[in-house]
Amino acid sequence: MRFDTVIKGGNVVTPAGTFTGDVGISGEKIAALGMELEAEGAKVIDARGHHVIPGVLDVHVHLELPFCGTTSADDYRTGTRAGARGGVTTLIDFAIPYAGESLGQAADNWMKKAEGKSLIDYTFHICITRWKEHKDQIKGMVERGFTTFKEFMIYESEGWQSDDRALFGTLEKMKEYGTMLLVHAESARVLDELIERYHTPEMMERHGAKLHAMTRPNFVEAEAIQRAVQWCEATGGQLYIVHMSTGEGADIVRAAQARGVPVIAETCVQYLVLDDSVFGREDGHLFACCPQLKKPADVERLWQGLRRGEVSVISTDTCTFTREQKAMWQGDWTKIPMGMPGLETLLPLAYTRGVLEGRMTLEEMCAKLSTNPAKIMGLYPRKGAIQVGADADLAIIHPRSALRVAPDEMETNADWSPYEGWELAGFARTTLSRGEVIVDGYAVVGREGRGRWLPRTSAGLEGTRAEPVASRISRGPMSPLRAMDERETAAAGSAAGSAAGSAGGAGR
Ligand SMILES: [Zn+2]
Repeated sequence: MRFDTVIKGGNVVTPAGTFTGDVGISGEKIAALGMELEAEGAKVIDARGHHVIPGVLDVHVHLELPFCGTTSADDYRTGTRAGARGGVTTLIDFAIPYAGESLGQAADNWMKKAEGKSLIDYTFHICITRWKEHKDQIKGMVERGFTTFKEFMIYESEGWQSDDRALFGTLEKMKEYGTMLLVHAESARVLDELIERYHTPEMMERHGAKLHAMTRPNFVEAEAIQRAVQWCEATGGQLYIVHMSTGEGADIVRAAQARGVPVIAETCVQYLVLDDSVFGREDGHLFACCPQLKKPADVERLWQGLRRGEVSVISTDTCTFTREQKAMWQGDWTKIPMGMPGLETLLPLAYTRGVLEGRMTLEEMCAKLSTNPAKIMGLYPRKGAIQVGADADLAIIHPRSALRVAPDEMETNADWSPYEGWELAGFARTTLSRGEVIVDGYAVVGREGRGRWLPRTSAGLEGTRAEPVASRISRGPMSPLRAMDERETAAAGSAAGSAAGSAGGAGR
């Protein structure tokens, strides 16, 4: 068969194993995998000496978000360019209703932010901020193609906080609709109390940005996760803990999964590569994010959770603020805009600190960055894996060659980076989105506004959530690959609906 594009000679990571060979692309879809695919008349991309991996899904992103008295500094233009350079081909943002608005209006607002600007595909989690008004709007949002909802257990001052009644009631509805609730789990009243205790001129003079960590001990997150898990267990509604940052959280989730509770956990890459010692730096306030960075023991426990399976996803919680915005704090840590740039460095950090430093295999990394998030967020098999019938969303990375992180050479609007000066491998030499090259030679070449909204009909990960990824991946050198397992291809095609089905058929 003829292809529009053939990626030649890469080390290709697929659900059936990793092999050295070719990826054939027809239109927007992957049409064949194999050795020596016919490339006549096709655009040929040389991937020899490189890894070819599924495009990354960053499922926790905030672009152009009004927050902490300002608006986050990356919009859909710069944010998605940053993502593409880091191999991200799909992002999920959070549509948060402004004062008095409905869930539908929130979705409309975020659609407008993305349209005409986004370089990559996207959708949104719908944030329920006023339970009594929003509860009857959930069903309509599911019908409109949104299957993941979000509640915050803190942020009363932003008007976003949900109480136990809202959590419980929403989880009941998630059970009813087969959808999933994402929760920001921190214990609001205890956190308020601790902040109040330390919020004095003397304490702020003495401790500065360290107070951001001192007022959020691990039990603030652990208690909230425990409580959310309790409501999850009581209702049977699927729960997803966002940006889990503590070892205690990982213990609670692991124990809950072991007794069959439908809870899934995500961590963010900053909780895997940084710890709260940064708050002692001269510019420590820049690292304020929410929840804050934790201790080295938490870092190790989260890596362990990724390997063992209780942590399913690595995301970024991208919420970019410039140095000038961060300077709003004027010595009061409660006024620091909370968040950091992340989309551009997610894959490089996971690859360098995870794969190259031996904390996870290449296949495990692809599971945590692509396959698991796609499955959990209802985007699989269209997204999340290199297989026939899937969208041709791919990143091509060099196994070792590193770039030094320098903010003025990056796509993000941030004028600083938490990783400034770090040498990281894993930036995308080439990124393809639906068959189109959007990053070439480490530079963005794609056209803004080409990204599409992704409607969904499902969410959650029944059955595989606690299973260690390693057991599902075949190891070692692969024998010459016969495209893919027939049954798996057929399953992928039928689950993806008609579009993927026809492309799957073309691959034969
Ligand atoms: Zn967030």
